[in-house]
Amino acid sequence: MPPLDIIIASAECAPVAKAGGLGDFVHGLARELIRQGHRVEVVLPRYDCLRLESMVGLEKIPLELRLPHFATTLPCDLHQGRVEDIPCWFIDPRSPQDFFRRGVIYGEPDDPERFTCFAVAVLEFLAHCGRRPDVIHCHDWHTGLVPVLLDQVYRARGLERTRVCYTLHNLGYQGRVGEQVLRQVGLDAGRLLTPERLGDPADPRLVNLLKGGIVHSHYITTVSPGYAREILTTEQGLGLQATLGARADCFAGILNGIDVRVWNPLTDPRIPQPFGPDRLQAKARNKEVLRQRLGLAQDPKPLLAVISRLDAQKGVELIRHAILHTLARGGQAVLLGTAQNPLLDRYFRILQRETATSPDCHLELGYDEDLAHLIYAAADLLVVPSLYEPCGLTQMIAMRYGTVPVVRRVGGLADTVFDAHHSDRPFIERNGFVFEDPTPEALAGALDRALGLWFEHPAYFRQLRLNGMAADHSWARPARQYAAIFDRIRDKGREGG
Ligand code: ADP
Repeated sequence: MPPLDIIIASAECAPVAKAGGLGDFVHGLARELIRQGHRVEVVLPRYDCLRLESMVGLEKIPLELRLPHFATTLPCDLHQGRVEDIPCWFIDPRSPQDFFRRGVIYGEPDDPERFTCFAVAVLEFLAHCGRRPDVIHCHDWHTGLVPVLLDQVYRARGLERTRVCYTLHNLGYQGRVGEQVLRQVGLDAGRLLTPERLGDPADPRLVNLLKGGIVHSHYITTVSPGYAREILTTEQGLGLQATLGARADCFAGILNGIDVRVWNPLTDPRIPQPFGPDRLQAKARNKEVLRQRLGLAQDPKPLLAVISRLDAQKGVELIRHAILHTLARGGQAVLLGTAQNPLLDRYFRILQRETATSPDCHLELGYDEDLAHLIYAAADLLVVPSLYEPCGLTQMIAMRYGTVPVVRRVGGLADTVFDAHHSDRPFIERNGFVFEDPTPEALAGALDRALGLWFEHPAYFRQLRLNGMAADHSWARPARQYAAIFDRIRDKGREGG
């Protein structure tokens, strides 16, 4: 395949601008596509909270863009830098509202206006600089207007051969907003706010930015085959099933990768004792260190871990149940998590108090990258009881560290975890425990099987660890799948293409 010229337009790219999984995705995919020989550049907002220490050479470009903004235009600066080997562009509108000088990536009341400004700036930048990429790869509702603007405005400004691939990371966030965002960038609300285009399925008076992206892109992907099926055919589509159904011939689920250089138990500088499949017994030292650090008893007990945003999506009641059930069955439990929602924060602080005197339980309510690495390396089991899960990274990371996942059969969890007892996969591919219904009983059944094997059949349990460690969750394959899609949609009429 001839090399592709790809622009990734995203609200996040780890580690310079990361709020969650999207940042890891953009970083991992961009690096691997570059390694495979493609030209890739990432365009991001120039947040004031960029982690500049993880960048090389951020410099302002001597050029000023003018962005359409209601009846006027906004001046916009452009900066250039590198995140490791990824060339990045940073959009810096000089707006009276200081759109990207808020100290945060998301969570502002005017997020729709902020990212609408970003979307138009991406295209204005390309048009102004005479850039004609094969593909713009857009992500989530923040960039849903990019394909709409390309179709309505920028195709006629020299970008007629550029195609858009749009990736859905979580349908729980659709960007349902008032029509002023269309007027903000000079789009015709009368023409676009229709059921066929950007009209929200539940409230036709609202613009649905995610839907706009789905309708106007040349190809749509999501982050696992399982989630692709669910959002197309069940209520997990959250009102967008029909919109996706109409695009089914150019819609695919591609399983995310993880950065296997960062998540490598043989070389991870954040864990006290390196280990690998050939030296699996060394993993035990990490468990010892974690227990010491958290004040847990050094007893011959299995250790269950939770590393998660504490959000309703993640099955918070089931998380609580998993911890209490494990303790009742003679195991230990560790949770590392953060809750944005104050009610959920309280819920877990109460559990923290209830278990405070137990020598077998520790709840750490905060974000701690180092501790996360140590827990993956130390634990025996990791539970992920999500109500829905587009892909999920924690179960894949856990497996790299010989920690066996216990998950609900949903989305990307169902695509990556294969039950020790009930799977149609050959034994060598079985790597965890899976339950169906989002109920305490179903979860307890899977946990009992996992804890039972740990106590009574250690050799069998060890083999599950090894099976998980042997799986390839790197970005190599997913990046080739994305490149194949980009190649399929690119304008083959291009000279030399
Ligand atoms: P989501 O993107 O829905 O939050 P994923 O499973 O896709 O969930 O990715 C979660 C990522 O965030 C993983 O890398 C996990 O290790 C990390 N993570 C989650 N919570 C914490 C925390 N409290 N401290 C450190 N890392 C965390």
